[in-house]
Amino acid sequence: MEDKRDYYEVLGVDKSADDKELKNAFRSLARKYHPDRSTEDDAEDKFKEIQEAYAVLSDPEKRQMYDRFGHNQPGGSPFGGFGGGSFNINLEDILGGDFFSSFFGGSSRRSRNRGNDIIVRYSINLESVFQGTSEELEIELPNSCEDCDGTGAENGDIISCSNCGGQGRIRARQQVGPFVQDVIRDCPTCSGIGQIIKTKCKSCKGSGQQPKETKLRFNIPKGAEDGTRLRMRGKGEPAHRGRGENGDLFIELEVEEHDWFERSGADLIMSLPLTYTDLALGTTIKLPHIDGGELKITVPKMTNSGETIEIRGKGLPRLRGSSRGDVVVLVKLQMPRKLSKEERKYLESTREDYTDDELQERIKDDASKRRK
Ligand SMILES: [Zn+2]
Ligand SMILES: [Zn+2]
Repeated sequence: MEDKRDYYEVLGVDKSADDKELKNAFRSLARKYHPDRSTEDDAEDKFKEIQEAYAVLSDPEKRQMYDRFGHNQPGGSPFGGFGGGSFNINLEDILGGDFFSSFFGGSSRRSRNRGNDIIVRYSINLESVFQGTSEELEIELPNSCEDCDGTGAENGDIISCSNCGGQGRIRARQQVGPFVQDVIRDCPTCSGIGQIIKTKCKSCKGSGQQPKETKLRFNIPKGAEDGTRLRMRGKGEPAHRGRGENGDLFIELEVEEHDWFERSGADLIMSLPLTYTDLALGTTIKLPHIDGGELKITVPKMTNSGETIEIRGKGLPRLRGSSRGDVVVLVKLQMPRKLSKEERKYLESTREDYTDDELQERIKDDASKRRK
């Protein structure tokens, strides 16, 4: 027989732990190691171990025996143990229905009583992000069927499910490793609703839902980011057969690409291709800006390709706070497509000679500038 860890140690509790402490310790460990949930490699073994420890310690009689004799019980019968005995723990009572809802086919108490959420994608441009506009959208959404009040039944022709006695839930035994657990599941006959439609509503064919053209009004928050979700409570899908609250509707904002700006938080980044003459002599550029005004970019003379110009406070508003981000302009040298004869001649005349040493100096200089 393998060496077993002390049950108190397994649950991480004191020898004097009371029922509540035991239950709490078991609950948090079981949530962590439940084989359907856990990503740990040894989850199943761990889960068996904590389940065994809890089964023994939560039973006053077994606990007393364990306290006296440890794992070596007189008569050689160690509490069923890994040897194949089974423990009857109602996990749902301890862990709560929510814990199971995610892996019993999604037909949990929560999702049964509440309609699905709906996500609607909505495109906006940077100008709207800047201003924070109010928008209106007309869209077809599932609504509760008016003819049957969302029940899906014609003239209320519904009967109670005989399989579950109208409870919607049945008690079932489930084997996890060597352990038998009692779980409460949705009744398969009525999908957990407790009722069965005898005659389906003609308007909605029993679904309890009908699409309805709906007008949504919402505000784009200033500085909204791509993927920002606006929640409209209760505007989602109606609950199944009208027996619960509606889901929520989320408007997920998609910020369209701007013709030249890229966004980095509240900052706007752009590159500005300029000619050799503009870089050498300096220039001032004016562009229409997202704030409705003009963006003035002053390029000083002798600006190098690759230098950046920052224009403070001309970016987007920050989501929190009243300040604005910056515009960052990356200056680039744009070569002409072609040179005329005269241009070529002129440029040849301005060519400067330099030695290999001078070239190397220049390269070194540039590298050290980049490292700064
Ligand atoms: Zn049923
Ligand atoms: Zn209907």
